[in-house]
Amino acid sequence: MNLQASPADTIIEARWVIPVEPAHALLTDHSVVIVGDRIAAILPTAEARIRYTPRSRVELPAHAVIPGLINLHTHAAMTLMRGLADDLALMDWLNHHIWPAEFKHVSEPYVYDGTRLACAEMLRGGATCFNDMYFFPQATARAARAAGMRAAVGLIVTEFPSPYASDAQDYLSKGFAVRDEMRNEPLLSFCLAPHAPYTVSDQSLRQIATYASELDLPVHIHVHETLAEIEQSLKSYRVRPVRRLADLGLLGPGLIAVHAVHLDEAEVALFAQQGCHVAHCPSSNLKLASGMAPVRALLEARVNVGLGTDGAASNNRLDLFAEIRLAALLAKASSGDPTAVPAWQALEMGTLCAARALGLEDRIGSLKAGKFADITAVRLDEIETSPCYDPHSHLVYASGREHVSHVWVNGRLVLDDRRLTTMDTHEITVRAAYWRDRIGAS
Ligand SMILES: [Zn+2]
Repeated sequence: MNLQASPADTIIEARWVIPVEPAHALLTDHSVVIVGDRIAAILPTAEARIRYTPRSRVELPAHAVIPGLINLHTHAAMTLMRGLADDLALMDWLNHHIWPAEFKHVSEPYVYDGTRLACAEMLRGGATCFNDMYFFPQATARAARAAGMRAAVGLIVTEFPSPYASDAQDYLSKGFAVRDEMRNEPLLSFCLAPHAPYTVSDQSLRQIATYASELDLPVHIHVHETLAEIEQSLKSYRVRPVRRLADLGLLGPGLIAVHAVHLDEAEVALFAQQGCHVAHCPSSNLKLASGMAPVRALLEARVNVGLGTDGAASNNRLDLFAEIRLAALLAKASSGDPTAVPAWQALEMGTLCAARALGLEDRIGSLKAGKFADITAVRLDEIETSPCYDPHSHLVYASGREHVSHVWVNGRLVLDDRRLTTMDTHEITVRAAYWRDRIGAS
C-alpha cells in the first residue's frame, strides 16, 4: 500500500474513456476515480494506481466508459401498456386505446410498478437519468429513488380529468405538493409538464409560464408532433402552436419542446433565438408516422437537441442506444447528407445535450471531475462489436443496450456485470404480469 496515496471509493479502469466533453475526446487506458457521489479524477490507469487506494477496483479491459445516457422524454409508467395497441394513427391510438385504458387503470400503484419496470429496463440499457411526464408523479419519484436512478419528474398538467386530478388547477397543486415534499432528494429534479398545446388552455399555459420563471423550473411539453395538431391550432387559435406558446411567454432557455417534427424555418430560427431545447424522439415519430424532425437544420441553427424514447406504448423500447443510432441515421437520410450527425455528436445528444436541456449540465452529462458519477460501461469485444477500430463508431452504429455491463448512478453501482443491484427483476416481471392480466381483461 502506498502511504502517500489518496483514498477513493471506486476506481474504474477502462480500455477507453469517452468523456463526451471535450467533444471527440477518446482516452485510452484511463481510470475514472469516484469519491462519494462524484467523479474525483480521470487519469491514466498507471498513474491512478500510484495516486489512489480505492475501496473497490473495477477492471474493464475491453470496455468503453461513457457518461450515463439521459432519456430526455418518456412516460415511464407506460411500460405497462407496451404492445397494448400498435400500428395506429396518433389520435386514434390516444382516443380509442391509450386514454381509455389510462382512465380505467392508472393509479398510484400502477405508476409505481410501471416506473420501476421502466427504471430496470433503462438502467440495463445504460441510461442513468430520465425526464418524465405522467400521472401520479409522486409514484414516479418514489420508484426512481428506490431504483437508485436519477429523474427529472414532470408535474403533469392537462385540462382533462383523470384518476389523478380533476382540472388544470388540481394537477398544478398536486404537482407542487410532490415537489415541496421531495425537492431535497439528491436524485430528483422537477419540471413543469403541460401535456401539449392542444390539451392545455391559454390561461393555464400563461400561469405555467409564470410559475416556471418564479421557481426556475424547466417546462417539458409535446410540440408540433403531427401536422393534424398544427391544423387544429390554426382552426382554434388562428396561429401555429409554437407561435401560441411564444405569445403566452413559454419560449426561452427553460423550454424542452418534445418531438418538434414539423417546424418551418422561422420556427427553427425562433427556437435558436430563444434558446429553446428539443427532445428528439425518432423511434416514436417513425412508429406513429409523425414524420422526421429537422435535426440537421436545428443543429445548424445551434438549437440544443437531446434524445428521448417517448413512452413504451409508442416505441416500444426504452432504449437510448436505438435512439442514438436512429438520430444519426435519420439526420443523414432526411438531409441527404451522410456527414450530418456524426457518431460523436449522436453520443453527445444522448448525454450532454440532454443534461443541458434539463438545466443539469454542470452536474451530469459528461465525465468530468466534480460532476456526479453517473457512468455507463459498454463491452466492445463481443461478436457484434469485433474488431474495434473506433469506440465512438461502435457505440453509435454497432453496439446495443445488451452490451452495457456496468452502470453507476451518483457513485453507486446499480448494474454489476448486467445484474441490477437495487431491484428484484423477478418481482418486477410478476407485477407487470399482474397488470397485463387486469388491463387485458377489460
Ligand atoms: Zn410523449
